[in-house]
Amino acid sequence: ESDEIKKSLKNWIDELGLEDDVQVVFTGCFGFCEKGPIVKVMPDNTFYVNVKPDDAEEIVKEHLLKGRPVQRLLYTDPVSKKAISDSKGMNFYKKQLRIALRNCGFINPESIDEYISRDGYMALGKCLGELTPDETIKEIKDSGLRGRGGGGFPTGLKWEITRNVESDEKYVVCNADEGDPGAFMDRSILEGDPHSVIEAMAICGYCIGAENGLVYIRAEYPLAIERLKIALNQAREYGLLGEDILGTGFNFEIDIRLGAGAFVCGEETALIHSMEGLRGEPTFKPPFPSVSGYLGKPTNVNNVETFANIPVILNKGASWFSKIGTEKSKGTKVFALAGKINNVGLIEVPMGTTLREVIYDIGGGIKDGKGFKSVQTGGPSGGCLTKDFLDTPIDYDNLIKAGSMMGSGGMIVMDEDDCMVSIAKFYLEFTLEESCGKCSPCRIGNKRLHEILENITNGNGKEEDLERLKLLSNVIKDTSLCGLGQSSPNPVLSTILNFEDEYLAHVNEGK
Ligand code: SF4
Repeated sequence: ESDEIKKSLKNWIDELGLEDDVQVVFTGCFGFCEKGPIVKVMPDNTFYVNVKPDDAEEIVKEHLLKGRPVQRLLYTDPVSKKAISDSKGMNFYKKQLRIALRNCGFINPESIDEYISRDGYMALGKCLGELTPDETIKEIKDSGLRGRGGGGFPTGLKWEITRNVESDEKYVVCNADEGDPGAFMDRSILEGDPHSVIEAMAICGYCIGAENGLVYIRAEYPLAIERLKIALNQAREYGLLGEDILGTGFNFEIDIRLGAGAFVCGEETALIHSMEGLRGEPTFKPPFPSVSGYLGKPTNVNNVETFANIPVILNKGASWFSKIGTEKSKGTKVFALAGKINNVGLIEVPMGTTLREVIYDIGGGIKDGKGFKSVQTGGPSGGCLTKDFLDTPIDYDNLIKAGSMMGSGGMIVMDEDDCMVSIAKFYLEFTLEESCGKCSPCRIGNKRLHEILENITNGNGKEEDLERLKLLSNVIKDTSLCGLGQSSPNPVLSTILNFEDEYLAHVNEGK
C-alpha cells in the first residue's frame, strides 16, 4: 500500500506543478505500526496516520498548496480525543528515546548524504583521525554498552579480547539473523539506517585489526538486503569503505552472506559455520569466536542493534551514554511490541523503563478493554511474567531475576483470554521446529516436554505431570549444548511458576 500512496502523492505533486519544490521519499520504519501507513510532511513535522492512496489528493491540495493540515488524517489521542499533528506529542513516542533508531523515519535510507547530514561517518573520521584503537575501545567500554542480541556481554570487552589475539587475519561479523517470532528490530534498522551499521563495522575493524566484515542476514529480508547493498556501494564511492579509507591507510571491506532462515543460525558459532558453507550447527565454546571464528580466525560478532549504537557513543561520548539506563544496563533497548496491545509497533526506551510504562503508556494498554494477563520477553526462550512484575524496571539483570530475559527484544502481551499452557506449548513447538538436532537433551527432551503439554491440554494430564515437566525442563537447561536448548524450557517453567492454576484446571477438566 505504501507504494501506491507514494505513486499517488507523486502524481498529484506533478499534476499541480510542485515537483521542483516537493520530494516524495520512502524512509525507514516510524515504529508506530498500528497506525501505518504513515506520511510525514516536512519541515513542519505533520504526522498523518492510516493513510490510503486516495488521501494523496487532499494532502497535496490542502496541505502542500494551501498550508492547511488535513485534520481527519491526524492522530487522535484516545483519552483527550484531541488531534495531534506532531509525533512528539503522542504518548507512543513521549517515553521513548531513540538512539539505535535515531535515523529511522527521519532520513531516506538510500541517501548517504542524508546520513552524513545527521553526523553520519563523523565517528569513523574521529577514530581514524584522532583516536587509537585502544582509545576507541576504552570509550566503548566506558559507555557500558552490552550486546543487544540477547547475551548482554560487554561490547568493548569483546572488542578488546579480539584485538588482543595475535593473527594475520581477523573478521568483523554483523549478526542480522533475527529469528524471534514477531521481532523486527534489526530488520528495521537495516531498512531505515544501513549506514549506521556499516560505519560501526568499519570502526570495529579499525579497533580489532580486521580488514574484512561480513553481514549475515536472512534472505527473507529483501528490502533490508537491497538497502544495505545500496549503502555499501555509496560508502565505497565516498571512500568510506575499501582501500585507504579517508586517506589514512586503513582498509576495510564488507560482504553480505545470506542465511536461509534457521533460528539456530543466530547463535554465533552456528552462524559462522553457515557462512563457511557448513551445516548451521552450534559448537561447544570455548574456543569463542573472538579467538577462533570465521575460517578459524579471530572474529568479532555483534548484532545489528549493538552496532547501531556505536557511532552515537563515539560522537556524544561514553559519559553521555552511560548516564542513560540503570547501573548495570546502560543506554536504551529496542523492542518489537506485539500481541494483545493497542499500539503494536517498534519502540526504543531507556533501560530502567518499567514494563507498565511500556505496556500502558507507550503501548496504550490492552486491546478491547480486556485485562492484562502476562507479558513474554526474550523471544521463544523467554519467560511469561504476571502483573506482579509490571513495575519491574527493564534491564538485563532484572528480567533474569524476574524469571525471564531480555533476549533480542521481542515483547508479546497476553490478555485475560489467553491460555498460558497453550502459550507455553506454542513456544515449545517453535523451538522443536528450530532445534538443529545435534544434541539429545534438546532434540528428544523438548519432544517429550511437548508430549506432556499436549496431554495436559487434551485433558489427559495428571497432577504429577507438573513435576515431570519441571524435572525434565531443568535437565534440558543443564545439559543442552547451545543457548537454544538451554533456554527452550523457559516458557514452560515460567508458566508453571506463575500460572500453575491454569495447568491444574486442565488436569481437573480431564478427570
Ligand atoms: Fe542444536 Fe538444540 Fe543442541 Fe543447540 S541445544 S546444538 S539447537 S540440538
